[in-house]
Amino acid sequence: MRFTRMAALTAVAALSLTVAACGGDDGGDEGTGAGSKTFEAGSTMERLNKAQAIKVGTKFDQPGFGQKGLSGKPEGFDVEIAKIIVKELGIPEDKIEYVETPSKVREDVIVNDTVDMVVATYTINDKRKERIAFAGPYYEAGQNIMVRKDDTSITGPDSFKDGTKKVCSVTGSTPAEKIKEYVKDVATQVVLFDTYDKCRDAVKGGQVDALTTDNVILLGYIAKDEGAFKLAGDNFTKEPYGIGVKKDDTAFRNFINDILEAAFSDGRWKKAWDDTAGKFDAELGDAPTVNRY
Ligand code: GLU
Repeated sequence: MRFTRMAALTAVAALSLTVAACGGDDGGDEGTGAGSKTFEAGSTMERLNKAQAIKVGTKFDQPGFGQKGLSGKPEGFDVEIAKIIVKELGIPEDKIEYVETPSKVREDVIVNDTVDMVVATYTINDKRKERIAFAGPYYEAGQNIMVRKDDTSITGPDSFKDGTKKVCSVTGSTPAEKIKEYVKDVATQVVLFDTYDKCRDAVKGGQVDALTTDNVILLGYIAKDEGAFKLAGDNFTKEPYGIGVKKDDTAFRNFINDILEAAFSDGRWKKAWDDTAGKFDAELGDAPTVNRY
């Protein structure tokens, strides 16, 4: 259903209603363009639609979620989720500016207005909610460990307790904090970098014994580097992925949550998963339930 701008404005004025996106697009750039959809005056949705531009914070080094490809733009499940939301804002896909957002700067780029939203394997938790808000979750991962394929000495997080093994993770990530509970000596056993590809290289080169982060990120590295790595054991945490927005922007959060719920049931979420990270392990492709906290 499409409104003309005048009709929509009249409806808003007359009824004082919150007018949500007009939905119903079924492909291409139909429904994009300034004024193609009508949003509540003063809302983030209206601002972005009028600007016909949006900045999305995502990862550039994580296969299956956000990895810069030959196109020069990141590709993956997070990118596809971002595109689903951006389309509902009436903004064409080619107007998305992707900003590389390593784990430790995710709250900062939201608070400082560097980006309009963050879609970056971003676990929803209470500490982060002190500074920003989350829509979602749109996926639930779990922390795991990746080792060199011939390593039989590490079978799970308890393998770090004897103090002899080094494990790599990324500053500002939940896995970096969690693994500290398992090692004997943080200073000598936990190595932190700013991005996961550096940890992967360190495992490969033998400087560290393992990389710990979410299972689906590790599965991406395992798939890309056939024969080099394997998972060691089972997931040992739950990592629900949310979309980070401004802490007080409840209208934008609700708007995204509505889109996610629709995408879970109408096939858009499934297609995004199957085309990206789902290729590494199709069985991990269950949509979660949105949590409107
Ligand atoms: N999901 C975890 C987190 O948000 C690990 C993945 C990442 O660092 O992006 O910290």
